[in-house]
Amino acid sequence: MITYDHIMIRFGELSTKGKNKKDFIRTLADNVKNALKDWPSLSFETRYDHIYVGLNGLDYHPIIERLQDVSGIHALSLVYRCSKEIEDMKQSTLNLIKEEEGKTFKVKVKRGDKTYPLISDEITRIVASHILRNTEHLKVDVHNPDILLSIEVRQEAAYIFCKTYLGAGGYPLGVGGKTMHMLSGGIDSPVAAYLMMKRGVSIECIHFASPPYTQMGVIYKLEDLLKVLTRYQPRIRLHIVPFTKIQEAIYDNAPESYCITLMRRMMFRLADALSKRRKCPVISSGESIGQVASQTLQSMHVINAVTNTPVIRPLATTDKLEIIKISKKIGTYDISIRPYEDCCTIFTPKAPKTMPHQDEVEEFEKKFDYESMIRDAINNVEVKIITSETQDNDLL
Ligand code: ATP
Ligand code: MG
Repeated sequence: MITYDHIMIRFGELSTKGKNKKDFIRTLADNVKNALKDWPSLSFETRYDHIYVGLNGLDYHPIIERLQDVSGIHALSLVYRCSKEIEDMKQSTLNLIKEEEGKTFKVKVKRGDKTYPLISDEITRIVASHILRNTEHLKVDVHNPDILLSIEVRQEAAYIFCKTYLGAGGYPLGVGGKTMHMLSGGIDSPVAAYLMMKRGVSIECIHFASPPYTQMGVIYKLEDLLKVLTRYQPRIRLHIVPFTKIQEAIYDNAPESYCITLMRRMMFRLADALSKRRKCPVISSGESIGQVASQTLQSMHVINAVTNTPVIRPLATTDKLEIIKISKKIGTYDISIRPYEDCCTIFTPKAPKTMPHQDEVEEFEKKFDYESMIRDAINNVEVKIITSETQDNDLL
């Protein structure tokens, strides 16, 4: 009996990338192999516009599912690799279509090998009439078929398939460089991290911790979140910045309503310093316009004024419900909603400024030597590396 023996990976957006294409494909091929390392018997073949994964008899379901998380893949087809002999194609398509459910079909042929002696229409006609002659229940429907049987005739072989699955889209992780991502442990920032990764940008994370006001529980939570995100990036570096002294200095030197603005300016200064040290050309965060007082446009302007480093906010215009939907899809939601104290929530002012003034903010900042505190904090960063292999006990 004939069964599907390969998964054909299509690149989608990559095809528009001209001379960078080779690098992209090499990176994607590495990422694909890495994502599938739990199945050592799979084989891989990288060609100009597809990657083929040889199943070697393995069940395709978990493999397709795993590949759907790999960014840079536009679509995945479950294919049978067949010789280009027309008799072979006739026999194989017939055998494969018999296993499919449905009453109507359409044959679609793509002739990548332009030297092939038969043109697409001829192949379509020969194959379709062979199927019609040898089955009882199947009819042709070119507009809305139950089964779309595709044949791609390429240089090395012909590929036959009926099933195509959507990939994650975006670009292969790593081709877009690296960001210093601000990770808070809430719902938004892990989703923003995922969107950066999907765009091909790998992440390092920075977290501001204020012990004893914030608990170790927050760190475990971050580690759990990152463990989920290792599905998309196998090794993630988490920088934990001691923030307590800076936060206390802010509360000693500024009115309550301005504390959040000052705190967030300090966060961006720290993220900026670390991004330079770690050679990340951008910073990213989970901010969304209007969500809280510190995320009004005026707040963002005053907060952002402390750095020239571009700040990417993938969720800037995304509604909370949509953010929640993505967080459920990627598996971070249940961890994000665990109760915890963040440094932003412990001293929440009753009436935070939604329209802070930069000159006032600067006056408050002059009252304490925050620059040396920032240097100190950066020099005392604690680093954790989270990998897909990290055991739960390693995290405790
Ligand atoms: P989230 O759901 O990601 O916690 P939020 O809606 O609670 O976001 P804020 O607390 O105002 O919003 O934070 C906005 C963004 O600032 C976060 O998405 C995150 O990128 C960053 N941020 C906030 N607190 C911290 C923190 N303690 N450490 C690192 N980044 C932080
Ligand atoms: Mg938060």
